[in-house]
Order: sequence, then C-alpha cells, then structure tokens
Amino acid sequence: MAIDKDAIREHVRGILIALGDDPDREGLKETPDRVARMYEEVFAGMNYTNDEIAEMYGKTFKEEDTRHTEDMVFVKDIEVFSYCEHHMALMYDMKVSIAYLPKDKLIGLSKLARIADMVARRLQLQERIGTDIAYIVSKVTGSEDVAVLIEANHSCMTARGIKKPGTKTFTTTFRGKFENDITLQNKLLLMNTH
Ligand SMILES: [Zn+2]
Repeated sequence: MAIDKDAIREHVRGILIALGDDPDREGLKETPDRVARMYEEVFAGMNYTNDEIAEMYGKTFKEEDTRHTEDMVFVKDIEVFSYCEHHMALMYDMKVSIAYLPKDKLIGLSKLARIADMVARRLQLQERIGTDIAYIVSKVTGSEDVAVLIEANHSCMTARGIKKPGTKTFTTTFRGKFENDITLQNKLLLMNTH
C-alpha cells in the first residue's frame, strides 16, 4: 500500500488549525506538504512486509570455504532512526547490532544495514524492530541462530512526560543458539561493549 500524501497534507493542516495556528501564514504555508514528503521518506518501510524486505535485500552468496561457516558474523552499531507508534515521536541515536551463525548462505554486510534501516522506517516499537530484523535475517540466510541488540533514545521519554534526558533503552532479541547458549550470548554482549 502506497503512502497517501494528499491525506497527510490535509490532516497536518487540520492539526495546525487544532493547535490554534493559521496554516495559511507564510511560515506554515508549505508545512503540510513538507511533512507529507518527510513522512513518505521516514515511513518508507510501511510500504513493505517483512517478507518483501527479505526478498529486496535477500541476495546471498555461498561460502566457498565451508570450514569456517559456523563462525559468528557480527555487524555492530548500524545507525538508524525510527518513530515510536505510541507517540509518533522520534527514536534517535539508535544503534542496531546484528549477529548470526551462517549455515551455508552469507548475506552481504551492507544488506544487513539496509534491512535494519528499512525496518526502522515504520511506526515501531524498539523490541519489534529487533524481532522484525531477526525474522528477515533468518529468512534470508537460512540460519535460525540470529541475535539483534538495539540501543536508542526515545524522544517521548527524553522530551516529554517524565523528561529524563540521557535515558537509553536497550533491547535484545535472541534466536536459536543465541537463546540457549549462555557462553555464546556472553561473547556477543562482550563484543557489543567494545
Ligand atoms: Zn513513545
């Protein structure tokens, strides 16, 4: 489903009026259109299901030297932005780290970053960004052993409500061996702190 920019323009204009402002004054005249174009960009991931994202970035290659295929692949600190679905507020300084234990298919490292970026471009929950990424990476690589670590600031916590600037939220998603093997889990968490 494509994002309906006309409807966004109309509703943003309505919000400006509801706030008591004049949507026709110079500074606000173009605002509904700017917001509509911004939403189209920052919510681009809403156009695709997880399965479609898996297909878009699902190009894998076979490991030639199969002796090392069990070694962990770990990409740390992919920077993304997202918007919380409870307040439509920005989640910022978000860093996503993805690990998996390859079976026979490897995914290009830049593809992992693209998957994280696209999943974040939705109205999201931090935990669900983790489960969405784990699902897609697992589908693409054929490996059940996937972990996703995320840290972020939520502007709905830092700029409103309890106003606790500097409060970071950490979430972990462990699948397969990462869920059951505590040694592996600790190794990953240790790597993530460096
Ligand atoms: Zn929120």
